[in-house]
Amino acid sequence: MSQPGQASSISIGLDVGGTKVLGVAVDPRRPGTVVAERRVPTPDGGGGLVDTLVELAGSLGLQPASIGVGVPGLVDRAGTLHMVPHLRRMHDVPLARLLAERTAVPTVVDNDANCHAVAEQAAGAAAGAAEALMVTLGTGIGGGIISGGRLLRGANGFAGEPGHMVVDPNGPPCPCGKRGCWERFASGTGLGRLARDAAHAGRLDAAVVLAGGDPEAVRGEHVTSAARGGDVESQAVLDSLAQWIALGLANLVNVLDPAIIVIGGGLVEASDLLLPEVRSRFAALVMAGERRPVVPIVPAELGERAGAIGAALLGVD
Ligand SMILES: [Zn+2]
Repeated sequence: MSQPGQASSISIGLDVGGTKVLGVAVDPRRPGTVVAERRVPTPDGGGGLVDTLVELAGSLGLQPASIGVGVPGLVDRAGTLHMVPHLRRMHDVPLARLLAERTAVPTVVDNDANCHAVAEQAAGAAAGAAEALMVTLGTGIGGGIISGGRLLRGANGFAGEPGHMVVDPNGPPCPCGKRGCWERFASGTGLGRLARDAAHAGRLDAAVVLAGGDPEAVRGEHVTSAARGGDVESQAVLDSLAQWIALGLANLVNVLDPAIIVIGGGLVEASDLLLPEVRSRFAALVMAGERRPVVPIVPAELGERAGAIGAALLGVD
């Protein structure tokens, strides 16, 4: 893909999601600006993923100096995939090395929420913050920690998985194999469960109507849209979700002491309904909340491109 003698500052970022791979080309001197973009379906189970990524990178039509890839799961410092539920055929595959061999371009692979954190710190809601915590609230929960202006990777590259902090040892089973992980409670999945519990108990009539009358069919979007219409019961469910979110954030702040917390992922669309309640509950839960500087808890700014942009920036690193 690269040609000798042709200087390029472009970095390509590839964000491998559950259903699609988003590819972007970024000029790192203007990290918030995407100069080319394309998306393709994620191959089922990750079979053929290397071919898909090579073709996607090539189809952007630019000579990259580096490539970065974000995947949802555990990736070690060498860019080998260890536990990526959506890409079960790729476990123990040295993805970074294979892509570098195929493209002749230096390639890094990292966790997708780490990529989000890098992007938001370079050009988004945490711009310029040397100490920042990124938490993505989607189907599960991802995280990325910026410390001393750099992404915190840990000994193996596995740092920043707050979704699997256990908050209830007797809680519901998690896809990771454990029980009661934070992401079972404080994610979109957690909202769905809180909503169905409330619906079956007869405490969520407006959202049940939006779901066609079946309590089992209630989803997060029914709750948020009923809450926007002023439904008190739906707002109460969101307040329960806010309590779970605030609990995990308070634990993380007690350990990490970030200057800012950025919330991304699908639930960010309900940030107007959720974050005011998260902030006040967080202040009551964090150690010495009344005697420490306020930690801003803000929505992410870069939207669905954040992971791909951050991957591109990590490639430059
Ligand atoms: Zn878990």
